Amino acid sequence: MRIFLFIAALFATGSSHADWHYDKQAIMGTEVHLQFWVDDDSRADEIKRAVMDEFRRIDTALSPYKEDSELSRVNREAGKGAVKISQELADIIQKSLYYSDRTGGAFDITFATLGSLYDFRKGESADIKTTESLLPAVNYRHIALDREQLNLAFKDPRTKIDLGGIAKGYSVDRAIGILQRFGVQNASVSAGGDARLLGDKRGKPWLIGIRHPRDRSKNAAVIPLENTAISTSGDYERFFIDDDDHRVHHIFNPATGKPTDTDAGDTGSDQDKLISVSIIGPQGFDTDPLSTSVFVLGKEKGLALIEQMHNFEAIVIDANHRMFFSSGLEK
Ligand code: ADP
Ligand code: MG
Repeated sequence: MRIFLFIAALFATGSSHADWHYDKQAIMGTEVHLQFWVDDDSRADEIKRAVMDEFRRIDTALSPYKEDSELSRVNREAGKGAVKISQELADIIQKSLYYSDRTGGAFDITFATLGSLYDFRKGESADIKTTESLLPAVNYRHIALDREQLNLAFKDPRTKIDLGGIAKGYSVDRAIGILQRFGVQNASVSAGGDARLLGDKRGKPWLIGIRHPRDRSKNAAVIPLENTAISTSGDYERFFIDDDDHRVHHIFNPATGKPTDTDAGDTGSDQDKLISVSIIGPQGFDTDPLSTSVFVLGKEKGLALIEQMHNFEAIVIDANHRMFFSSGLEK
């Protein structure tokens, strides 16, 4: 009898008890993962929908693979003259240009002038002649952004942009903003290599794994984190191995117009070549472009940049598979 009453009481309170909720969807060419705690279960589905809709909205605007995205329109038209753009696109381009300045051009969204000719699934890359002829069009200084009038023009008609090095970090920040508006205090949101954590895991830190860059089944490290963002860039996400045994991957050196050299024993010093970079900092809008930047800069210049920046830390793995930390993590 007592058991029966207990069960009845459970039903009477409906589903409004506190619990963890999960969702996972394929958006932006990657998997978006969401985990959050709510005190009132009845809003969980609404929250999931709002977060995933925001990822889809941003993808619709910024995808280079969707012909009717704002980004695709800009890439078709801005080389011919100024085009009107949204406040959101202007803000993301402005942030990208800030990191181009700050990194001496290592972060450069005009890499896409050549990058758009690569297809990692099909194993296609730009040939040497095309690379040489288009290289002058890869330069963030060709981007003329008028933030007052919301106008954008490319000074070289061949220039194209791609926001793949910053859009996912921006999106996880937007997702966290939505969760906060719903009153959520503990959450984890990730889109591929970009994650942002809200609060802790209710009394414990979140445990974030950094994948082993050459063994998908292993973690190279697991880091306890709370209330922060972490972005990882690696040469193992999108790549193919070409006929000369070189790894052709999705992070470009704007100075050469080609993917950075991450092959051990090849040109340059293996100690300076990075194959995985993780950046920890307050928001994805910064950690995402910084992980790409440090990857291109290499270990010495990359870690020096992070040392200069307040509130940011780095974990990097070189071509010899050795791991290094910025000074704030070594303590
Ligand atoms: P992901 O999370 O997709 O692995 P990363 O943060 O590692 O992304 O950034 C890689 C993406 O950034 C590439 O897929 C490309 O869209 C873009 N990208 C590549 N090289 C550069 C560069 N030098 N500057 C800015 N963006 C870049
Ligand atoms: Mg990045």
